Amino acid sequence: MEIRLENVSYTYNTQQNNTDKNALNHISLNINQGEYIAVIGKTGSGKSTLLHILNGLIKPSEGTCYMDGKNIHEKGFPIQKMRQKVALCFQYPEYQLFEETVLKDICFGPENLGLSKKEAEEKAREAMKLTGLTADMENLSPFSLSGGQKRRVALAGILAMEPDCLVLDEPVAGLDEPGRKQLFDILEKMNQRGVTVILVSHNMEDVAAYARRVLVMHEGELLMDNTPENVFSDEKIMQKTGLKRPVAVQFFYNLTGDGELPDQGTMTSPKIPLTLDALADWILERNRSTGGEK
Ligand code: ADP
Repeated sequence: MEIRLENVSYTYNTQQNNTDKNALNHISLNINQGEYIAVIGKTGSGKSTLLHILNGLIKPSEGTCYMDGKNIHEKGFPIQKMRQKVALCFQYPEYQLFEETVLKDICFGPENLGLSKKEAEEKAREAMKLTGLTADMENLSPFSLSGGQKRRVALAGILAMEPDCLVLDEPVAGLDEPGRKQLFDILEKMNQRGVTVILVSHNMEDVAAYARRVLVMHEGELLMDNTPENVFSDEKIMQKTGLKRPVAVQFFYNLTGDGELPDQGTMTSPKIPLTLDALADWILERNRSTGGEK
């Protein structure tokens, strides 16, 4: 499935002082099936609004949102079906858990889509496996689980509807380190199965480690749409947005001289280490090629 935004703007009409808030300005972009995209930018830059536009939750004030070439807000477009295919996972989705048992909660979505109880349970059990929830949890109350487990139940409820695209607003917010890792592993697994992942994150380490494309939002504008390597090596973008480079990238620049890009090779993206593991490899390789000189 392909999603395309053409010149999309969005304005919130606020009652206070009768002022309008321009949250998105003339955004155009294309998202292909199977991409893994992070949306970054300061608070208030328009990230959540962009996610809500992508999932069809809100309608652009200007411009058009297309799915597979069709305007999703045109009469006759099956927008409910589309929201199942482009599933939005809100911040702290576990707040929306409500059923008595884990299994019932995960079945809620697929049953709502018209599946029989048996079919819904099949999908739910598959989603439990995908999210690392064990069969003995089926009959537990979701409220008796840990924070990370509750988050995974909420995510399983979404996966049980078999979306083509997952749109997630700060999916690991509030989780401890093992919980974050587990959740990112699930997203990686889904992405490897061809599911598009689009997520908002404030954590540049996570963005560098997982995303393969980064959308930089700034005051409602799409300032940059590129690889993490290109985004994090762009000094102007970092300064303008006030975003911090991932530790590995910063360390790399401290070692190689600020702002310089050694050995860009012939790749379109500079070869900079995005994670500490990649940085360690780069240092080892450098030492090897200089014969251990300091
Ligand atoms: P981000 O997700 O990057 O923090 P948002 O998309 O939430 O940014 O917000 C973009 C802009 O729109 C901000 O200036 C914010 O104050 C404003 N905004 C967001 N939601 C509303 C709303 N419901 N009513 C009015 N203004 C809003």
